[in-house]
Amino acid sequence: MTKVLRTISELRAWRNGLPAGARLGLVPTMGALHAGHISLMELARTHCDMVIASIFVNPLQFGPQEDLARYPRPIEKDIAMLEAAGVDALFLPEHTEVYPPDNSTYVVEEAVSLPLCGALRPGHFRGVATVVLKLFNLTQPHFAFFGQKDAQQCAVIERMVRDLNVPVEIVRGAIVREEDGLAMSSRNVYLEPVQRLIAPLLYQSLLAASAAYEAGERDAGKLEAIGRAVLADEPGINVQYWEVRDRRSLAPLQAVGADGCLIALAAYLGKTRLIDNIALGT
Ligand code: AMP
Repeated sequence: MTKVLRTISELRAWRNGLPAGARLGLVPTMGALHAGHISLMELARTHCDMVIASIFVNPLQFGPQEDLARYPRPIEKDIAMLEAAGVDALFLPEHTEVYPPDNSTYVVEEAVSLPLCGALRPGHFRGVATVVLKLFNLTQPHFAFFGQKDAQQCAVIERMVRDLNVPVEIVRGAIVREEDGLAMSSRNVYLEPVQRLIAPLLYQSLLAASAAYEAGERDAGKLEAIGRAVLADEPGINVQYWEVRDRRSLAPLQAVGADGCLIALAAYLGKTRLIDNIALGT
């Protein structure tokens, strides 16, 4: 049975009741779970004795024009999926449980959170870093699991953990994709049928750059041109960014060196914003 913990005091009591020495893994989510989330639960199980998931649609990481109100919240289905995955506990707090009305303390990372999604979603990573540090303090896990799907989020959290000496080991899980290559996302349900048909082009653009890289291309501008060309003839895809970056610092690259690179993109299909990425090299 997955124990559903709705308050901080329930969470603390559950945490305090764990056997001494039990290694605890946390998988933070916003719910509307899919196989990508479940892969993180399974990864957590291989590292840990006990696994706790959290579901909290964190208002602090949504911009005023974003999809907070319509974000999917199929909580009964989510709980059934966590049960099936053998997750030990779920932290499912209300907004008021997480943020006091006069909350005035935030976590701001000032380097890796700036480019890419950070530049286009002001305050987003401040919201992410703040809620993740709160979840770490509440849950006190030994390990926490995050998807490479949100590569910049991983980089921000790893930097925060390093800079603030947070005693949690961060583990990244691989991107889980639909059969046609579309990265799984809770937001894919927003896609209209015709948008869903063209959405796999995003991954195909990354694969085109990857193929060029494998064939020896190292010039970042050329890789970008090859990737963008896959999307250029599709008016239904509005690319926000498509960039070759250093994997850890997310700094722009002129050429891909021995450390490889991250290629990350964001695009609108109608009103739905999707992100994807691929790591190339070592
Ligand atoms: P979210 O509920 O979107 O905040 O995602 C919760 C966690 O699941 C984050 O660490 C995401 O990176 C991860 N995640 C989301 N989609 C995928 C996916 N397709 N494959 C692997 N992990 C994912």
